[in-house]
Amino acid sequence: MRPAASAHTHPGRSFQDPAATAGFQAVMRSAIEHKREAQLQVPWAQLRAQAHRLKAEAIGDLDRLLVHFEREFSARGGTVLWAPSARDAVEHVLAICRRHGVSTLVKGKSMISEEIDLNDALQASGIEAVETDLGEFIIALACDQPSHITAPALHLSRGDIGELFARKLGIPYSDDPHVLMTAARDRLRETLLRAQAGLTGVNFAVADTGTIVVVENEGNGGLSATLPPVHISLMGIEKIIARLADLPVFLQLLARAATGQKLTSYTHHFLGPEEGRKAYCVVIDAGRSEVLADPKTRESLYCIRCGACLNVCPVYRRAGGAAYRSVYAGPIGSVITAQLSGHRHGAELPFVSTLCGACQEECPVNIDLPHQLVHMRSRLAPDARDGRKGKAIGAAAFLMQGRMTYALASALVRVALRLAPACRPLLPFLSGWTRERALPALPKQSFKAWWKSRERERPR
Ligand code: SF4
Repeated sequence: MRPAASAHTHPGRSFQDPAATAGFQAVMRSAIEHKREAQLQVPWAQLRAQAHRLKAEAIGDLDRLLVHFEREFSARGGTVLWAPSARDAVEHVLAICRRHGVSTLVKGKSMISEEIDLNDALQASGIEAVETDLGEFIIALACDQPSHITAPALHLSRGDIGELFARKLGIPYSDDPHVLMTAARDRLRETLLRAQAGLTGVNFAVADTGTIVVVENEGNGGLSATLPPVHISLMGIEKIIARLADLPVFLQLLARAATGQKLTSYTHHFLGPEEGRKAYCVVIDAGRSEVLADPKTRESLYCIRCGACLNVCPVYRRAGGAAYRSVYAGPIGSVITAQLSGHRHGAELPFVSTLCGACQEECPVNIDLPHQLVHMRSRLAPDARDGRKGKAIGAAAFLMQGRMTYALASALVRVALRLAPACRPLLPFLSGWTRERALPALPKQSFKAWWKSRERERPR
């Protein structure tokens, strides 16, 4: 079986390439409709406010809660390993694999494993890593990039998957979902039974009980964690919640926001290893402390990775997930990608937003994504200034600083806009803008002139 693909190794589409097929759009619409129905069954606004408060409390008390979690998890026989960087996390996993002679490792869905490029490191060490989540399994077979937080293979049709399975698994072509699912299950069950270790992500880590909570719909997460003798959980530090009593609030919101379900099919509570087995939890920082240190971006750590902000984002819906070239697409991806990868990657993403605010309205933890995007734009402005857009913004800032320069620039822009349609063939850079949209008709008066005349005519 082919090892899992790394999200960072495959070039994505660009934002100029519309990826939104009719099928893609239909799934988005259906997710939103299901969510609306599911929201009506609970006091949504109240739960949302409660979740925001609980996350704020947990993130504000992170240092104490993480230590508490370690104490409780260790008391039940588990081992907590701290990973300040992505590299440390990878080293921990490799060391565990070496210690237990792991040659095959099965993976439940874990976005953070993709964030830290774990698959590449496992492959380089000769360890077979097999994705057991159906969407991730498909993506790995296709050597493609996940396109959605909760539905990684959303951009592929069942026909695409049928062709892929025929080519890679050697089964007769079919686009029947039941046939495809059965083929994947047969292949994965065999791997699950022979793997020496299983790795999963963590949806919530409960500090007061030391519980690791994993929610999923396919049963693969539970099998990955319990069939092999070694279970490795990977979690970002922000997954902590203070009390088990807080969990129902998040479970109700997560399932409804993600898929419109009342609850996901499986909610696993891992309370440490059974006799003769091993459980490790690798707690990863990898840039999160910096996010925590900036009061204006801290809220992005409240994210429960439901994917709802992607479903309503007009940019994501048109461009698809691959355009973001990040494990985390959509509005939340645009906020966190550059922060988690230390500004080496994703500096352009906060600028890829209309700031319409739909993401915040949908977010079950009410994260103020639009303001986070604006803040990230200002933080990343020095990087952005290197680009053409950055230079244009710098020039606009200069012109707007003085009354005279502003008046002169406004007059020149009006002349330029009048000439623009005629000059288009001579100015190829304009076509980048006008290829996708028509230039709006120029009003007879500028806003300033209109305002002045309005003031003059207003009865006193
Ligand atoms: S930011 Fe909010 S809506 Fe987006 S994935 Fe995170 S929790 Fe869900």
